[in-house]
Amino acid sequence: MCGIIGYIGDKNAIHIVLDGLKKLEYRGYDSAGIACLLDGKIKTVKCKGKIKNLESLVDDNLKQSKMAIGHTRWATHGKPSDENAHPHCSGSIALVHNGIIENYAEIKKELQAEGYKFVSQTDTEVIAHLIRKYRESNLSIEEAIRKAVSRLKGSYAIVVMDEKEPDKLIGVRMESPLVVGVSNGEKFIASDVPAFLNHCNRVIFLEDGEMITLNK
Ligand code: GLU
Repeated sequence: MCGIIGYIGDKNAIHIVLDGLKKLEYRGYDSAGIACLLDGKIKTVKCKGKIKNLESLVDDNLKQSKMAIGHTRWATHGKPSDENAHPHCSGSIALVHNGIIENYAEIKKELQAEGYKFVSQTDTEVIAHLIRKYRESNLSIEEAIRKAVSRLKGSYAIVVMDEKEPDKLIGVRMESPLVVGVSNGEKFIASDVPAFLNHCNRVIFLEDGEMITLNK
């Protein structure tokens, strides 16, 4: 179990995501991380330990960002460490994941043979590389995610950002929870409603197998 949250809108995304992570800390707390889009580039900050540790590492200029994702981890594959903390990135892609990918070892082997370099011991990192691989074969971000998750066995709630799609956050789930918060000019996506209840109270509960594209 772990907690994930994403935000897209006009406000300080880092503030909203850190605040949401604190409300999700009960779901897992061995490490935490965030990724945000700033000046067209994805910036990632992550570390072992509590959200307080993460907060102290966040640079003030990241607070200009209007789109971010965050994660509080309960390790299933790979020890709690800075490298294994989410988000995981590949090329223009960054994502957070709650769940377990049962067939990650065979996918990892395949991707390594194709030249993808792994920097963590997590099952999650295969998803980032798979989406990048399909994205670079000229699929849209939605098609690339759909194709990537069709390869996965196990459970997942995933929230994805792509540098090449600065106005989109995409969520998809299977056997792990994912809820969407809808407000005027901003959207939230998280493992659980309390993560964004301070900000909005219109909620959509995603079903297994559903994917959603959010823009502000
Ligand atoms: N399996 C992933 C990991 O170990 C996600 C764990 C979780 O859902 O907390 O990093």
